[in-house]
Amino acid sequence: MAADLIEKLRAGVRDVPDFPKPGIVFKDITPILSDGALFKASIDVFLERCRGKKIDKIVGIDARGFLFGSAVAYELGVGFVPIRKRGKLPYKTETAKYSLEYGEAEMEMHVDAISPGEQIVLVDDLLATGGTSAAAAMLIAKTGGKLLEAQFLIELEFLHGRQKLVPTPVVSFLKY
Ligand code: AMP
Repeated sequence: MAADLIEKLRAGVRDVPDFPKPGIVFKDITPILSDGALFKASIDVFLERCRGKKIDKIVGIDARGFLFGSAVAYELGVGFVPIRKRGKLPYKTETAKYSLEYGEAEMEMHVDAISPGEQIVLVDDLLATGGTSAAAAMLIAKTGGKLLEAQFLIELEFLHGRQKLVPTPVVSFLKY
């Protein structure tokens, strides 16, 4: 992956201090989305990483994982599966609980979204503590899907989120 491309993407990530609460530095990716060349570049880094893999479906996490994951799935010509916060999906769901800083949350996926043996790549904008993506990995496993890799545009390495995803291979393009 060209280093200059990565630096351009990095310059498109805006740090918003104290959002959504004091002490959190929110990594705002909307400057990437609103710039046509940068948005294309952000999809291209995922696509480059998908090359050579036999992928049946891309799974994206609510909500920014949908922005990247669906574009990647479109370009690969494969299906896209949304994993959503509890109560948003209309049909029968599998549920996975995960812990937040205070308390617990749940993610859901439609029971028939993935068939046993299908090869899956998980896509999200950002890996922080890894709780959300570990819940997503659990949902994929419940349906019998084979999670080939989890891909993130951004990784907050100091939170060691990838440890929660072991043994799934994890790749990120912008590390902080
Ligand atoms: P986690 O479960 O801690 O890995 O959190 C990952 C999810 O929360 C991702 O879907 C991100 O979109 C969001 N997220 C967590 N921390 C941040 C942050 N500092 N900036 C932007 N998004 C974040």
